[in-house]
Amino acid sequence: MNEIYSIGIDIGGTNTDVGLVNGNGKVISRANIKTGDYHDAVVYVDQISELIKQLLQNVDSALVSGIGIGAPAANYYSGNIENATNLNFKGVVPIRSLFEERFPYKVVFTNDANAATYGEMIYGGAKGMSHFIMYTLGTGIGSGIVIDGKLVYGADGLAGEMGHAILIPEGRECGCGNKGCVEKYASTSGIVLNCLELMPQFPDSILCSVPFEVMTGKTISDAAKKNDPLAIATYERTGYLLGIALANAVTFSSPEAIFLMGGPIQAGEVFLDPIRRSFKKHKLFIYDREIPILLSSLPTNDSAILGAAALTR
Ligand SMILES: [Zn+2]
Repeated sequence: MNEIYSIGIDIGGTNTDVGLVNGNGKVISRANIKTGDYHDAVVYVDQISELIKQLLQNVDSALVSGIGIGAPAANYYSGNIENATNLNFKGVVPIRSLFEERFPYKVVFTNDANAATYGEMIYGGAKGMSHFIMYTLGTGIGSGIVIDGKLVYGADGLAGEMGHAILIPEGRECGCGNKGCVEKYASTSGIVLNCLELMPQFPDSILCSVPFEVMTGKTISDAAKKNDPLAIATYERTGYLLGIALANAVTFSSPEAIFLMGGPIQAGEVFLDPIRRSFKKHKLFIYDREIPILLSSLPTNDSAILGAAALTR
């Protein structure tokens, strides 16, 4: 049987990665441009199209299943990027149709968290699962929900914005206009804010001498590796809050498992252990079987491309 190839495009605020993925879910070649260098969406899509042509040079076009695209503020139904806050392209950009005009392949377009969810389902640890939820932790928090083996898009194509579920009433102001959203407490910047909030209780922490402007998730996770008490307390607090969010999510779709992906989980057990403890404590008793909190099994560097490519399968 001939191998089927897919193209995956991950549009991020900083970089756009394009990869050719084989039938076994391996990225076999890739290319990259800086998203921020482009202000005109047509020029941007032309440039990506050139990269795709190069990647497909030695591939029989009959064996290409399509082009999958993951992007922030992407609407699956319209195929548009709509009012992205971290891209130069303002307003509504018809990304899907721009690619459809340039290639004879099927083009599937969805938000980056949904793409990550697809990647896990097709190539990763959720293979064979019919019900699961994926949380992607990074600058923000995205999520994807799979029910009966299908990704949930909802009435307007925007289902799965669980990062904006309100966790703390009247809490921290979120970019979405609400207060107290999950992502203000468990994204990279949320973790830094948790650390600053706890800092007065740990005057001897090595983090107290780190200026606020240079404090990142990595600073805190490095300090945790040195058993710094503030860093450990930060993950304890963050894990406690995220565990509540995940327990709430279970009541929504009764998943077999919840997957986590992204930079913050690289901190390891110091973060995962409090998440699991809080999740177990807050999970409604009727869900009495174990619902594991699992880490994405896709390779970190390739997960976004794989997720986008998986959309075409
Ligand atoms: Zn929000």
